[in-house]
Amino acid sequence: MQRVVAPCWQKKHVRPACPVPLPGAVVAPAEMERRMDAILKPFPKQQLSEHVRAAPAPVSPKPSREEAEAAVKTLIAFAGDDPAREGLRDTPRRVVSAYEELFRGYRECPLDVLERTFSEIGRYDDLVLIRDVPFASHCEHHMAPFVGKAHIAYIPVERVVGLSKLARLIDVYARRLQTQEHMTSQIATAIDEILKPRGVAVMLEAEHLCMAMRGVQKAGVSTVTTQFTGSFREAAEQMRFVTLVRGAAA
Ligand SMILES: [Zn+2]
Repeated sequence: MQRVVAPCWQKKHVRPACPVPLPGAVVAPAEMERRMDAILKPFPKQQLSEHVRAAPAPVSPKPSREEAEAAVKTLIAFAGDDPAREGLRDTPRRVVSAYEELFRGYRECPLDVLERTFSEIGRYDDLVLIRDVPFASHCEHHMAPFVGKAHIAYIPVERVVGLSKLARLIDVYARRLQTQEHMTSQIATAIDEILKPRGVAVMLEAEHLCMAMRGVQKAGVSTVTTQFTGSFREAAEQMRFVTLVRGAAA
């Protein structure tokens, strides 16, 4: 095994697990990856909820692309237009391609996203908050979009996760047919079970186009859902979370 000779710049001794090279030192990507892995903590998969541990089981038999495109053609005709019209000729193909992207959350697993955690958090024991993370999902009742912002906080114990990973976790669940309530609780559960923090707070604010464009036809209505676990079940902690979230909007 190759010996790492670059000393950590924070502590002046040889420390193979430290991923931070000396300023100016050249570290090969593979070596950097190895050093990062040395401080990443794997954790057991047992005791994780089904939706946290794995992507949903694929529908069987999965419709072919041709069948999906034919279904879009039928819907166009049902709406009252001619699927053979020039402007619509390629639409079924485009819609099916868009579906692969908009619903790719069915092929993704929360555990894969949050698996790599960092244990070097020093004495940090207060909340980590990411706020105003935009998301777009589809309501499972009308397959109409609902779009909004997510705010997530957790209080780490021993390990933290890369901040971009929390944003990715939101998309894993948003890119499925959803209710806002279910999505809120799924995000909270995944963070709670995988990171095992002292507490998790999740707030989603979204406008549902099924409400804005059909039914009661009220645009601009914001639906807010929250889910709290652990120490965030206490009123004072919830207040602090909401104050920090609202601070962003001021
Ligand atoms: Zn709806």
